[in-house]
Amino acid sequence: MSKPSIYGYTFDQLAAWLEDRGYSKYWASRVWQQLYRERAADFAAMADVPETCTALLADQLLIGSMDVHVQQESRDGTVKFLFRLADGHLIETVLMRHKFGLTVCVTTQVGCNIGCSFCASGLLAKKRDLASGEIVEQIMQVQRYLDEAGRGERVTHTVVMGIGEPFDNFDHLIAFLRIVMDPKGLAIGPRHITVSTSGLAEKIRAFADLNLRVNLALSLHAPNNELRTRIMKINRAIPIEELMEAIDDFIARTNQRVTIEYILLKDVNDGVEQALELAELLRGREGSVHVNLIPYNPVDEHSQYQRSEESTVRAFFDTMKKRGFSCSVRLEHGTDIDAACGQLRSKQLREEGEPSLAQ
Ligand code: SF4
Repeated sequence: MSKPSIYGYTFDQLAAWLEDRGYSKYWASRVWQQLYRERAADFAAMADVPETCTALLADQLLIGSMDVHVQQESRDGTVKFLFRLADGHLIETVLMRHKFGLTVCVTTQVGCNIGCSFCASGLLAKKRDLASGEIVEQIMQVQRYLDEAGRGERVTHTVVMGIGEPFDNFDHLIAFLRIVMDPKGLAIGPRHITVSTSGLAEKIRAFADLNLRVNLALSLHAPNNELRTRIMKINRAIPIEELMEAIDDFIARTNQRVTIEYILLKDVNDGVEQALELAELLRGREGSVHVNLIPYNPVDEHSQYQRSEESTVRAFFDTMKKRGFSCSVRLEHGTDIDAACGQLRSKQLREEGEPSLAQ
């Protein structure tokens, strides 16, 4: 059996692990700092940590376990990474440059069982959940890429919006959040992190219970059950009414605003009629939600969906604004590379002969 990754340990867990082996919390702080501040890639290179301690760590743990398999760089600075995990599976991670900082979009599962009809990732059933260490390592790999560029740049934001439903891998997600938020390490503040869910209502409530102050985004994508079920089969199990109750509960208990994600699919859900219906659905929550419109990125796998005209996007946006909602249109990143979520991974898997992607 392969050794566990040290990236999967929260600070308290690492401190307890070392204490059990005779090293005080002070040494856990040193190791943690070497790992996240100095980005040590090798236990032996950890300065100021006793050799007996680094030898013990090297004997029982790994520093990461994934390799960069493909790397695509866009003209706008977006970088897409395809990582090969220790068991051979491929996952995607994206670095995006915003005015406010550098954001990494992480993946939480190998494949996804939610099956949204517009998503390249949803074509491939979930193979397994990622361990917390594998989610943390995506950020560390990107941070090392930035370190090597030598411009002193730091990952400042994280969105959990890559492949997978994060709330379907809840415990590993929470451990990941605690590790990257730790002020002694990567110190990514909760307000700089957004977790996006397709709407697992029970888990939204459990997330509110933890009160981590991390932002929540709901992938709604349709204003009524008939349309939402058509494009997101999860809606059959958890209809909009149930979702809205969970969102209201989250807002009431955390006093945080929730982002409503709405992907615009040409002639499917992008009309003014649907915008009015969405405004009606969200009525009374004008101050507590933000609506983020996402122009669809066409992928070969879903030729039934097209991108909305710019004028249609504008009309949808104007309708939401006129109804008193805070609203934005998501800026595009990496349009000259395989920009859509899951696109690079499915392209690679097709090349490798994955049967479910045969054309
Ligand atoms: S959009 Fe997200 S939840 Fe839906 S199938 Fe794709 S990865 Fe899964």
